[in-house]
Amino acid sequence: MAQHQARKRFGQNFLTDPSVVDSIVRAVAPAAGDRVVEIGPGLSALTRPLLDHLSRLTVVEIDRDLAARLRKQYPSEQLEVIEADALAVDFAAFGPGLRVVGNLPYNISSPLLFHLMASAGQVRDQHFMLQREVIDRMVALPGGADYSRLSVMLQSRYRMAKLFDVPPEAFDPPPKVVSAVVRMMPLGEDRPRPRSEAAFEQVVARAFSQRRKMLRRVLADWVAHIPWETLGIAPTARAEEVSVAGFIGIADALVQAGVIAGP
Ligand code: SAM
Repeated sequence: MAQHQARKRFGQNFLTDPSVVDSIVRAVAPAAGDRVVEIGPGLSALTRPLLDHLSRLTVVEIDRDLAARLRKQYPSEQLEVIEADALAVDFAAFGPGLRVVGNLPYNISSPLLFHLMASAGQVRDQHFMLQREVIDRMVALPGGADYSRLSVMLQSRYRMAKLFDVPPEAFDPPPKVVSAVVRMMPLGEDRPRPRSEAAFEQVVARAFSQRRKMLRRVLADWVAHIPWETLGIAPTARAEEVSVAGFIGIADALVQAGVIAGP
């Protein structure tokens, strides 16, 4: 088959190291009847070994040449190829128990993670290769420099574990950064939930818009409506010191006070 010229605009860095492929597939541990969707199959580095374990796999690929190549390589009963931008795909429509896998295009990793949050109720787990620096932010705990809006938003919805690092040499062409693999398991229905997701998102985004500033300054016009003592948060704290539960508490108090819109 003709050689494929890697396209930078689609974040194409193809995995070539068989031991890394093997580690990812072992981490996913696919079983024959699993409902799996792979984002960005590219040249099949993960697709092929996943298919060794699965009776059927769905892939979402934006590059029409790669999508055509995959359709030629595998029978449609085995591999369903959706030629689309993953950001426009409704993952909830795949049904419950969904397992999502991908060596993701790094240029859209944060928007894609946020997009997938909307379907988390249907998802069993997600295994992604991403820039290590992004994964460090995803799993960061309060108090560290990596703790950010991404950490709070994702940790409000998923339990996450960084599994292992992957060096640039494992890809062709090699990316400029070290990569890593993360496992994300959606939290259950009994997770702490804000009264309003929109209010929670608004508070977190605002708090981290100036992460080094004290909350009483960043949230200045809301400050009088936040029961700081009850929540156990000092008004002099910075966003990077507040837990997910703390942000839920602030958002709920503001909704209750009618300061920001409720559900
Ligand atoms: N899975 C392959 C591997 O491990 O070698 C390819 C990984 S490469 C980092 C990312 C893949 O995602 C490419 O195949 C690229 O064309 C595809 N891609 C990029 N942007 C996409 C998007 N918005 N939606 C779906 N696929 C996308």
